[in-house]
Amino acid sequence: MSGDDCIFCKMVADQIPVTKIYEDEIVLAFLDIGPISDGHTLVILKQHFEKLHECPPQLLGQLASCLIKIARAVASAMKPDGYNVLCNNGRAAGQLVGHLHFHIIPRNSGDGLFSRWPAYKYEEGKIGEIATRIRKNL
Ligand code: AMP
Ligand code: ZN
Repeated sequence: MSGDDCIFCKMVADQIPVTKIYEDEIVLAFLDIGPISDGHTLVILKQHFEKLHECPPQLLGQLASCLIKIARAVASAMKPDGYNVLCNNGRAAGQLVGHLHFHIIPRNSGDGLFSRWPAYKYEEGKIGEIATRIRKNL
C-alpha cells in the first residue's frame, strides 16, 4: 500500500476526520475508531512506512519519545491496571492498515481481551540454529 491510498496518510492530510490526541511535525496520535478498550490509542509517524524495519531509526526514536508521552497520558487518564503496546507488521501478523502504527491498549484485570499465547518449547538444538540464522542477518 502506498501513501496515496492509505487511510492514515489521509488523516495526516486532514482529508478524513480523526479524534486527535497529540500532533507535532512528525507524529500523530488519535483514538482508534474500533477500540477494544476505552482509551485505545494509535500513534503513527506522519510519513508513510509500512513496517517497523522499514522506518529510519532516527524517526522511530522520535516516535518512541512520543509513545512514552502518550502512554503516560493514557495511563493517567484511564487509570487501567496495565496496558499493551502493540505493533502489527504484515497481514499475517494482523496488520490491516499498512501504515506503521503502535496501539496503546488500556487493560484491566479479568478483561479477557487476550489470553496467554500458545507458547511451546524448541526441539533439541533448534534454539541455537535459529539464533545463528537471525544474527547472520543483522
Ligand atoms: P491493525 O490491525 O494493527 O492494522 O490496526 C488498525 C487499526 O486502525 C484498527 O484497530 C482500526 O480500528 C483502526 N482504524 C481504522 N480506521 C480508522 C479511523 N478512520 N480512525 C481511527 N482508527 C481507525
Ligand atoms: Zn500511510
